[in-house]
Amino acid sequence: MKFPNVNFHIHSKFSDGENTIHKIVDASLKLGLEYIAITDHFSNSWKSKVIPTLDSHEKLNNYLKKIKNIKHFLENSKEHAVLFAGIEIDLGSSKEYIHNFINPKKFDLILFEYLESFEGIAFIKNLINHWNLKIKYQQLPIFGLAHFDPSLFMYDGISILLNFLEDYMIYFEFNSSYSQFYSRKYQFFFEELKEHDIPITIGCDSHDLKSLNNGEEPLQMIKYYGLERNYKLFLDKIRSTTII
Ligand SMILES: [Zn+2]
Repeated sequence: MKFPNVNFHIHSKFSDGENTIHKIVDASLKLGLEYIAITDHFSNSWKSKVIPTLDSHEKLNNYLKKIKNIKHFLENSKEHAVLFAGIEIDLGSSKEYIHNFINPKKFDLILFEYLESFEGIAFIKNLINHWNLKIKYQQLPIFGLAHFDPSLFMYDGISILLNFLEDYMIYFEFNSSYSQFYSRKYQFFFEELKEHDIPITIGCDSHDLKSLNNGEEPLQMIKYYGLERNYKLFLDKIRSTTII
């Protein structure tokens, strides 16, 4: 099966990336990427003191507006590339902060960063349930785990994790900047993902232009684990969803 060239995890100057969204998209087109998501940081934990984040309504609106404009441009051009409006939410952020700033209707894709405990699972469930009520069961964005470390749940609580991913339709990301999280010692975890039909995708956590097209190694590992069908589940879903 021929898979598209993708990168569902990219940072721009709106947080700690080096480039403007415009420049990222331009470079992605030249590299032949077909699906890309801008996923800048959102946080009010310690992280927000260290890196720039999407920390005001004005900045968030500006960010979404930029993405929307380029999205429209791509749709009306002959380029075979699709841009997704994403965001990476740090789970160390407070619930109130997230409720106040994040309108799920405005995003195609939301990544959760630092899922490390059962409390984290409960936190995400509460958020998604809250959004579900708020937008009255209209389509929610696609949800995924950013650079998730399987070892944190592999020996204790794997069934809780898998049921959660399945029930809330959350995908696992093969992140080329964190190849340790898809190393062969996690074979068992990947067999479980296959068994439970958990969608998977590829993100590079790109902060510069050189890493935009680093999806080849994750793709090899997806094939190594026999997860092509899980990857296809994700691709089918995004092909039927773009919100803005
Ligand atoms: Zn990131």
